[in-house]
Amino acid sequence: MGTEAIDTERLELVMEAAGLDLWENDLLTGAVTRKAVKIFAELGYTEAEAAGWLDGLFAIVHPDDVALVKGALADHLAGRTAQYRCEFRVRSKAGEWVWYANHGKIMGDDSGERGHRLIGVTFNIDDRRRKEERLEQQQRQLLESEARHRELLHNLHTAIIVHAPDTSILYSNPRADELLAAHPGWYFVDEQGAPVLPEAYPVRRVQGSLLPLEALVYGVRRPESARVVWLLVHAFPEFHTDGALKHIIVNFDDISPRKQAEEKIHHLAFFDALTGLANRRLLMDRLQAALAASARNRIHGALLFIDLDKFKTINDVLGHGVGDQMLVEVAARILACMRESDTVARLGGDEFVVLLPELDADIEVASQKTAMVAEKIRLALNAPYQLKGSAHHSSPSIGVSLYLGNDESADVLLRQADMAMYKAKDAGRNTLRFFSAAMQMAVETHAALEADLRHAVARGELRLLYQIQVDASGQALGAEALVRWVHPSRGTVSPMQFIPIAEESFLILEIGGWVLETACAQLAAWEQNDALRHLSLAVNVSAQQFRQPDFVARLAETVGRYRFNVARLKLELTESVVLNDVDDVVSKMHALRALGATLSMDDFGTGYSSLAYLKQLPLDQIKIDQSFVRDIITDPTDAVMVRTIIDLARNFGLHVIAEGVETEAQLAFLQLHGCSAYQGYLFSRPVPVEVLEALLHSSYQT
Ligand code: C2E
Ligand code: MG
Ligand code: MG
Repeated sequence: MGTEAIDTERLELVMEAAGLDLWENDLLTGAVTRKAVKIFAELGYTEAEAAGWLDGLFAIVHPDDVALVKGALADHLAGRTAQYRCEFRVRSKAGEWVWYANHGKIMGDDSGERGHRLIGVTFNIDDRRRKEERLEQQQRQLLESEARHRELLHNLHTAIIVHAPDTSILYSNPRADELLAAHPGWYFVDEQGAPVLPEAYPVRRVQGSLLPLEALVYGVRRPESARVVWLLVHAFPEFHTDGALKHIIVNFDDISPRKQAEEKIHHLAFFDALTGLANRRLLMDRLQAALAASARNRIHGALLFIDLDKFKTINDVLGHGVGDQMLVEVAARILACMRESDTVARLGGDEFVVLLPELDADIEVASQKTAMVAEKIRLALNAPYQLKGSAHHSSPSIGVSLYLGNDESADVLLRQADMAMYKAKDAGRNTLRFFSAAMQMAVETHAALEADLRHAVARGELRLLYQIQVDASGQALGAEALVRWVHPSRGTVSPMQFIPIAEESFLILEIGGWVLETACAQLAAWEQNDALRHLSLAVNVSAQQFRQPDFVARLAETVGRYRFNVARLKLELTESVVLNDVDDVVSKMHALRALGATLSMDDFGTGYSSLAYLKQLPLDQIKIDQSFVRDIITDPTDAVMVRTIIDLARNFGLHVIAEGVETEAQLAFLQLHGCSAYQGYLFSRPVPVEVLEALLHSSYQT
């Protein structure tokens, strides 16, 4: 018994420490052999109160739990469970429900039979249960709120897509599904119209800036369609506590209607309401862009300032309504003179400005082109206007400023054009003035030369000079005829200056015809002279001239009127002749050779695709351009170029002549590498025919 007493004591100690309350029932007798007492004290009941409940414990068990406890007990008693276990709530003296657990078991006696003593413990599990309850509740709330959230997203009128960090779609609401399904193959473009990969847009934005919220406007464009659907995209990245990206909620709204409204406002802000032309603001934007472009590509552009000459009178006499009508008409007429890339603006009133970007790298050509456009506008605005049933006349004064690069600001250029416009008014209106005196001069000279050139042939102002061509031994082979214009007041004008002007009109045909006529007459004269009969005469043919459909017929007609060996007539063509319509050129060249004429390619090496076409062309000679000859001694590239041309000519069975030979060193180099004919100041400058003949005479004497 002694050991048993000690064991019981130890057990009590352990139970105490573990907060367990031991109890025992005898199932046979139904007697409670050991009572759980601690729990009652814990619950705040006095021993007396507790004693009263010993049999009726269920009186203070939560009504919902009574069945559970009884069931667990019944299961164990019936042998359905190895242990009796249950958890239940008991009411404290203060009226609170406190969680307890019962763990029990039917114990066997010494015989090993299934016993009749039910022994168990009761212990407080309130903390654990409450923690669990709280968690459960949180879980429930979470689920509820998520469900609410989804429902909310589901019914939203804006599209929602939730992207995983790898941009795969975790969730999309019906509106998003609808949008994606309605526009298969659509892709995102940014505000500049550049495509944004649909799978890249949220992540890119999120990584690009670490803002938690981002509002962007994207367009969606269907392939091969200019139509853009504008979407306002908000991306909300959500992060894990460790900072890693959890997902991105992307919300987009179709804001096309708003965009269209904005565009309308933009239009109002940048365009003139009356004429629909650009307004000052847009003009200045475009001008600035054009200046920047010009700084990059070094191409001139121009600004025209146009002011109507009698507009105030029309406004005053016919009223503003009619004045407006006229301005609309003026706008349309100016536009009709323009290229796509030009900008026409109305600054207000009767002031119009035209921006002509990218005219030419050469300032003279750029001025010329500008003058041409301005003249076109001037004539267009001079045509009568039908206003209020009768014809009215008006005219413009036009001021021009040219620009290259962005040294001058947009404002300064506009002011210059304005000032030039006032110069045009001072000069009597209905005219054009350039801001810079030099440009004005260039344009005026051009205009004056063109006017004078019309009479040059008829007035006998053209002369031919002759420049000798020699062979390797210095013997004269012939000469090149070079035209000069002896202007009554300007003196001798170079063909470099007047041939391009002549090429702008039919004048080149008249001049070219005169040159050919004179050359043929000269050849016929030489034909009469034994000493000169062998000489050939090279005549330059301009591209425009050659392009004339009846060029061959005209030449045949001219040649037919003179008696000489046509093989002595050498036509010099340039690469620009061949540039377009090679087939036509080749057939013309064959026709010329059939007439007996000789063909030479002038300025060879300065054009491009030289090698490509050389094979196709029925040429007799190529003429190495003087630019290569000039630096033949000093520039290894030119030296190689010249040697290549000579080799090439030999391979194609062509004669080769070098022009612009000025020094003995150049001549020596050319001789060394097999060039067979020469022309240049070393032998003679272009001279009048008498001088040439004297030269030939003296060279025969030596
Ligand atoms: P081009 O046919 O290449 O003529 C050669 C030019 O080089 C001539 O200039 C000539 O005076 C010049 N020259 C000759 N030897 C030398 C030299 O050693 N050094 C230098 N620096 N220059 C030399 P020009 O007479 O002023 O003629 C210029 C261009 O005008 C010609 O180039 C030709 O393209 C054109 N041209 C001349 N006459 C006519 C013509 O009757 N009709 C047509 N369509 N064009 C012509
Ligand atoms: Mg020539
Ligand atoms: Mg030449």
